[in-house]
Amino acid sequence: MTVTVTNRIGGDTVAAADGAAFERANPADRRQIVTVAPESSLADVTAAVDAASDAASAWRRTTPTRRAEILTAAARLLAERADDIAVEMVAEEGKPIGDAKMEASRTPRNLELYAGEAYRLTGATFPSDDTPIVYSVLDPIGVVGVITPWNFPLNLASRKIGPALAAGNTVVFKPSPLTPLMGERLAAAFIDAGLPDGVLNVVHGFQAGAHLVADERVGAITFTGSTATGRKIHAAVGLGRRVQLELGGKNPIIVLADADLDAAAAIVARSSFSLTGQACTGAGRILVADAIHDALVDKVVELAGKHVIGPGDRAGVTLGPLIDAHAVDAMRTTVATAERDGAELACGGTALDDDDLQFGCFYPPTVLTGVKSASELASREVFGPVIGFETFSDLDEAIASANAVEYGLSAAICTRDIAAAQRFAAEIEAGMVRVNRPTVGAAFNAPFGGIKQSGTGMHREQLGPTVMDFYTTTRTIWFGS
Ligand code: NAD
Repeated sequence: MTVTVTNRIGGDTVAAADGAAFERANPADRRQIVTVAPESSLADVTAAVDAASDAASAWRRTTPTRRAEILTAAARLLAERADDIAVEMVAEEGKPIGDAKMEASRTPRNLELYAGEAYRLTGATFPSDDTPIVYSVLDPIGVVGVITPWNFPLNLASRKIGPALAAGNTVVFKPSPLTPLMGERLAAAFIDAGLPDGVLNVVHGFQAGAHLVADERVGAITFTGSTATGRKIHAAVGLGRRVQLELGGKNPIIVLADADLDAAAAIVARSSFSLTGQACTGAGRILVADAIHDALVDKVVELAGKHVIGPGDRAGVTLGPLIDAHAVDAMRTTVATAERDGAELACGGTALDDDDLQFGCFYPPTVLTGVKSASELASREVFGPVIGFETFSDLDEAIASANAVEYGLSAAICTRDIAAAQRFAAEIEAGMVRVNRPTVGAAFNAPFGGIKQSGTGMHREQLGPTVMDFYTTTRTIWFGS
């Protein structure tokens, strides 16, 4: 069944002003159109920012209790709707139903946490020599632009919209054009929970993000997506506006010779192939000690072979489709380039042409060995289930090699050696470091994000206790008698 979604501007549900629309197909069967959504133009985005600007003054004066009530009610609505939303997520985004249910059921927890933040917007007082009191208060920014990718279409967007609203900002939300229905379902929960008109506005489409960033009335842009898009946004946001970018990665796992081999293989397979390799924190580089290289490759290949590939709503499927046909082409090119650079296939590497998968965007878990550290496979993000094994002779070499990429998102080490793990934790260039844990996974109450070209390094302000810093500005007041 095809669902037609609209923009949401100032309390109205509206098509694009010029009537333009685009279709989103099911990545497991591209013959099925799942969603039709407006292709918003500059006029639509301007109208959404108008509405958010008009609503800003009243919303910033709304009591913390009321803001928290609405976020809590949105959490409850999302929880009630989670099973239905998960089914739609499988059709639109492709992940297996178990993963979709996990995302849909975890998203309300984010909103419950941010509801409480409405009460925790505390300033400070400062001793002063020349006036009785100096103090600071936290103000909302005004209008916040939220731009998100498709791979966690509910959860990532909720982590931005939730704190933005709790702080008293109004929002223009631009969901990924690959998951417009998920954007609509999330926004509907907030709006049905009682948000006043114009406090949360939604514009869909491929061009709307750039228009939103260009509008100087948007005081802060919070973005999650690719490094390439992040660079464009960073360049477009000038002085006086805020930008928070959470971008791509080339996440390494270092496996030392003393590691528990079975546990390390499970960590590599989980980090690399879960969500069909389409997690920003997914591992792409496996750096392994010479002595255990062959044994680890064999075990990872065995685990890769256990995946059941197919549509996410089919019983027993553990690996769904890639997001679209371009992604399948990208995997083919990646493997061909890696082989040209001297790597050898240990498994996978060919598109699946089973009869029942022919209309979908499927690609198998793929392991390449003999990857050179300067090669493209070792240095560029691959958003899919294609990984490369490299070897090293000592920990210094492994850490130096892992650090010799432009990214710095997530990194893991497998070892029983506490001193080695501590050195790794201290020296690896990554915002998130894991010891005997997969590179993937997040704690919704701990900072999440990356350094170097993986973002603006503001993950202290994404999740965790300092999340509200990005969404507020400080006003310092000298108060005389
Ligand atoms: P993308 O950069 O192609 O798109 C992300 C969003 O930006 C979409 O909504 C898109 O429409 C919008 N957009 C595109 N061009 C724009 C422009 N010029 N100005 C403003 N907005 C624009 O990324 P994607 O393919 O949706 O997502 C995959 C990428 O996201 C991967 O690189 C992945 O690593 C990254 N990601 C990072 C994190 C993190 O927390 N670091 C989490 C998830 C995904």
